[in-house]
Amino acid sequence: MDSLVLEYRDPLFGIIVLFTLIFFISFITYSFSLYKERRARRDYRKLLKRFEIGKLKEEDYVHLYKTYNLPFDSILLLASTFLHKGDYNKAISVYLALLEHVTDRVKKEEVLELLGTTYFKGGFMQRSREIFLRILKFSPRNLKALKYLLIINEKLKEYSQAKEVVECLDELGSDTKKDKVFIEALIIINDPVESFEKKGEKLYSLFKENQLIERLVVQYFIQYNKEFFWEHFEEFNLKKIVDILWYLNFDDINFDKIGNNKFLNELYSAKGYLKTASHSDDFVFDVLIALNNHEHKVPASIDFEFICSSCKHTHPIFDTRCPRCHDILSFNIKYYLVKGISEANQSLQ
Ligand SMILES: [Zn+2]
Repeated sequence: MDSLVLEYRDPLFGIIVLFTLIFFISFITYSFSLYKERRARRDYRKLLKRFEIGKLKEEDYVHLYKTYNLPFDSILLLASTFLHKGDYNKAISVYLALLEHVTDRVKKEEVLELLGTTYFKGGFMQRSREIFLRILKFSPRNLKALKYLLIINEKLKEYSQAKEVVECLDELGSDTKKDKVFIEALIIINDPVESFEKKGEKLYSLFKENQLIERLVVQYFIQYNKEFFWEHFEEFNLKKIVDILWYLNFDDINFDKIGNNKFLNELYSAKGYLKTASHSDDFVFDVLIALNNHEHKVPASIDFEFICSSCKHTHPIFDTRCPRCHDILSFNIKYYLVKGISEANQSLQ
């Protein structure tokens, strides 16, 4: 009987033990893999956090470059994320740290170029100039460095140095027609010794040779010799200086000289200074003239914007050089109707 029970119990017990064992082992394995996975995830998160852009320190970049042999271009790409965020100081620190370790000449030049343009974008003109001059010492035909140097000298009002850079660019075969006449005009306008009359004469003859500088010349005469401007206003393309004409003070306009000039009669009728035009082919002027003739005064005005003919970017204020593509005097004026601005507000602008 005993042996029978044992015989009967043995296999069952064995099976139970076997299943318990299997269950136990698989439980242990499962728990262990779960633990391993969790740990891996935590490590991964830690790693991610450490490499999150913006949390890396400048030396981390050098570390990545030197220790992990991360490609040079990848380091520059990582650093460029600072530029996109407008954090120029951080980008500059990375470039400076990299410069200490880069030995290859081509790479060094690339980092220096990035450093120079970043200083430029950040508004550190003197430093930017130093960097580009350093590049030109060992790479005198670097066109990018020369072009930046030209703009920097212009911004720092070092016009004679700017002229020298234009001559270098000329020798290297760059198209410098616009730069030459532009710098020439700036040199005349900013000459500290020459008399206003002499400057005016020089500018006027330069304008006769090249209409590119028209706006600079108009601005000069409106500021220093309005009489001359009103004597000669018909020689200028008035549509290209419509914003200057629009914002002129009433007292600065020589209404006797305007005479039958269609554009100015419509412009100043739209502004409300004259009542000589009853309509205009220009939609904006036409609406404003109609509003001015309306019984109930409806406050409306014109707003201007400037579109670069080279990069097609729109800018709210005029600039002689496009801040985006650096082309010279490339802005075209567009104007549109705005409501609710009174004349009093306008004269403050
Ligand atoms: Zn542009």
